[in-house]
Amino acid sequence: MTEYNRVYNFSAGPSMLPLPVLEKVKEDLLNYQGSGQSVMEMSHRSASFKKIIEEAEADLRDIMEIPDNYKVLFLQGGGTLQFSMIPLNLLRNSMKADYAITGTWAKKAYKEACKFGDINVIASSEEDTFTWVPKFGKDQVRPDADYVYITTNNTIYGTAYNYIPKIGDIPLVADMSSNILSEPVDVSKFGMIWAGAQKNIAPAGVTIVIVREDLIGFAGKDVPTYLDYKIHSENDSMYNTPPCFAIYVAGEVFKHIKATGGLVAMQKRNKEKADKLYDYIDSSTLYSCPVAKEDRSMMNVVFVTGNADLDKKFVAEAKGAGLVNLAGHRSIGGMRASIYNAMPMEGVEALIEFMKKFEEDNK
Ligand SMILES: *Cc1c(COP(=O)(O)O)cnc(C)c1O
Repeated sequence: MTEYNRVYNFSAGPSMLPLPVLEKVKEDLLNYQGSGQSVMEMSHRSASFKKIIEEAEADLRDIMEIPDNYKVLFLQGGGTLQFSMIPLNLLRNSMKADYAITGTWAKKAYKEACKFGDINVIASSEEDTFTWVPKFGKDQVRPDADYVYITTNNTIYGTAYNYIPKIGDIPLVADMSSNILSEPVDVSKFGMIWAGAQKNIAPAGVTIVIVREDLIGFAGKDVPTYLDYKIHSENDSMYNTPPCFAIYVAGEVFKHIKATGGLVAMQKRNKEKADKLYDYIDSSTLYSCPVAKEDRSMMNVVFVTGNADLDKKFVAEAKGAGLVNLAGHRSIGGMRASIYNAMPMEGVEALIEFMKKFEEDNK
């Protein structure tokens, strides 16, 4: 247990937020900066909120070094709505797109896109239960594809792309829902990057879309208004009421990231946390990680004991020790420790101590 009797929460999402951000939100809650109201109660057209959303965008642009020819949109509908919005907006010439299938979310995105165009699977690791990430390049993609789609971090299977596919001029679209802001990325290598907030940014409710300007404006006439990136882009994410409170918390998280050394420092901390946990798992006789070493995620660490009953016992006893939400996704079982940006090193160390003790007790 930590300050305020908080537990170490290894949930895959919604997940931990940085404590200093929660404290700031608490301080602001009843009276935001002398406005006499909370952000939840504030008109989204007010000067106070305008400042909040503008600063959030400016800080995100700063942290991620987003080039000027990209728009930043704050949308609703969760990560899942992007599975539809992407094909509805980006299928524009050949109506073809190529998808890499590296897990459950990629597969859902692919299935949804199939409703709208000629969608091809360029690569898949499904036959090996998604324990590795396929390598592909220009030779595998159709030269006339409107875009190529990847999921940079596979939340459920604990894998990540440790390379950016080189596909020439075809726009690369990346679901970064579970690893955005965990390390620096070269935004200019992507046509579009998007992320639901509830893994590594903010509470659920806002989805961030970073899209190159020349890819906006191709939604067909019958596409519902809300699903057109152009509408949101022209209205600075204020076409309708945006998820104000989630945007405000996201903004506070961006400020916190800036104040703690930006994404280079973030990557260093994340790598230290992940290395420590994987090193311990690899050295232990009880636990193992099914993921290929070079494709392991820094954010979601998947491991098993090899005995489903023992896995259950592990999750239950860990909970008793203040280490919560360690069960693997309901589709694969085992354990998963999600160690996003907000998980402190102390949380990872507490988990390793618990794992050692559990290993001793269950010899
Ligand atoms: C959680 C997640 C999603 C889905 O997000 P929702 O907001 O629940 O729709 C999509 N992609 C990835 C990689 C995720 O981790």
